[in-house]
Amino acid sequence: MSNRENQTDVILIGAGIMSATLGSLLKELMPSWEIKVFEKLAKPGEESSNEWNNAGTGHAALCELNYTTEKPDGSIDVSKAIKINEQFQISKQFWSYLVDSKLISNPQDFIMPLPHMSMVQGEKNVAFLKKRFEALSKNPLFRGMEYSDDPEQLKQWIPLIMEGRTTNEPIAATKIDTGTDVNFGSLTRMLFKHLQNKNVEMNYNHSVADIKRTNGLWELKVRNLTNGTVERHTAKFVFIGGGGGSLHLLQKSGIPEGKHIGGFPVSGLFMVCKNPEVVAKHHAKVYGKAKVGAPPMSVPHLDTRYIDNQKSLLFGPFAGFSPKFLKTGSMFDLLTSVKPHNVVTMLAAGVKEMALTKYLIQQVMLSNEKRMEELREFIPNAKSEDWDIVIAGQRVQVIKDTEAGGKGTLQFGTEVVSAADGSIAALLGASPGASTAVHVMLEVINKCFPQHIKAWEPKLKQMIPSYGVSLLDNPELLRKVDETTSQSLGLSTEKQYV
Ligand SMILES: Cc1cc2nc3c(=O)[nH]c(=O)nc-3n(C[C@H](O)[C@H](O)[C@H](O)COP(=O)(O)OP(=O)(O)OC[C@H]3O[C@@H](n4cnc5c(N)ncnc54)[C@H](O)[C@@H]3O)c2cc1C
Repeated sequence: MSNRENQTDVILIGAGIMSATLGSLLKELMPSWEIKVFEKLAKPGEESSNEWNNAGTGHAALCELNYTTEKPDGSIDVSKAIKINEQFQISKQFWSYLVDSKLISNPQDFIMPLPHMSMVQGEKNVAFLKKRFEALSKNPLFRGMEYSDDPEQLKQWIPLIMEGRTTNEPIAATKIDTGTDVNFGSLTRMLFKHLQNKNVEMNYNHSVADIKRTNGLWELKVRNLTNGTVERHTAKFVFIGGGGGSLHLLQKSGIPEGKHIGGFPVSGLFMVCKNPEVVAKHHAKVYGKAKVGAPPMSVPHLDTRYIDNQKSLLFGPFAGFSPKFLKTGSMFDLLTSVKPHNVVTMLAAGVKEMALTKYLIQQVMLSNEKRMEELREFIPNAKSEDWDIVIAGQRVQVIKDTEAGGKGTLQFGTEVVSAADGSIAALLGASPGASTAVHVMLEVINKCFPQHIKAWEPKLKQMIPSYGVSLLDNPELLRKVDETTSQSLGLSTEKQYV
């Protein structure tokens, strides 16, 4: 093939939820642009975006206690919770647009309504939860949140968790019925199917080995893993959506913005229960409090999941340490990510995060019985024979030098790193993750295509009515968006699962 034939407008590296979302947005904004996708695995959504590799929580800060912190004066800071809730509303609006435009169908195959709950034990934690409830329930974004510390009420809400509970420790929970369980794997596959229908070229079993700038274009060296050949493809714009693989690819691009950044991999596993008798006794995502020393992404939670037309329960995640950056990655990923420009940053993080590394290694060493003990803090009567282990995806947390934290500071959010000329962007980090994919990909669009934004604004507003405005400041728009997204995504009626 000549180079001309291999030239395209946009290349998306990786077939996870992020590339799927960016591709879907760009296809609506610029239908004539040619887009190619390169994915090293045989199918889309097989790494972190796969339904068994993440918890499927539609993160809207309805139940995650780490998004609301207690300030020194004892009041609750809800700013992060508001931000994340607004970001999830953006995802719901875009998904609704895709459903209403018949670009994807059967929303209940990827999103289901499910109460989101927070649950705590002990006087201090109960007092915190009550204050959190008081701060949030007044806010229109969290309308409908309920609180209870009455064991009889809790037995109604969470029978499985209350059954066999013998301690007299105070216990309390909040509940909000507008939460969701999202099958991000299913959504990713749907979006790529839609893109394929729109003539996006999907290249599976194609691993991107190198990226370099030539003649004002990005040239990718791509290994065809089926026949072993090496191909060269060029594009005006490249998105590195390789999940854990993004850092290495960003480093290969050589852009100065990608320097002095490192990655710290955190592995995870869940316990899963498919026993219908147990599953039938629980209907919620119930988030607890992180253990002292645990990273925020390992807050334990007990979730109802809707996967493969079946209801199951998921508990975890148990964090752990593995040097791989992808589940299908290499044991050398961490080592090969250390470069002369980030070695000081990485070493500083190594010293700073000694306690975290120790915690993660301890977690890896946990026996199944120890994990069951942690599960019994949620389900006192849990039986080992009902629970299996599922290995979850890898999360590569960003390490960078910051003013507040100094050299080698571990970040728990997502970061869009882009070249000054907007010709290439990478997504690093994994939290809140897939739930906020639309917001994060809009950030990529804003950073990389500023010259088009004005012309694209009407379409963006059509797809995402709250684009550019705060729903919190526009209660009428919030009410309308709530109503239309619930209807389009089928969130007010529940599909029956076995
Ligand atoms: C344990 C765990 C729990 C989570 N829970 C939640 C949750 O409850 N809610 C939520 O919203 N988010 C959650 N997340 C985060 C969420 O899963 C991720 O943020 C999201 O899936 C990342 O999508 P992605 O497209 O960036 O990456 P991925 O889905 O990992 O996709 C990247 C793709 O790039 C491919 N690739 C990599 N390198 C190359 C290369 N060189 N050439 C070609 N292809 C390449 C990979 O094979 C992969 O298919 C969780 C994550 C984990 C690990």
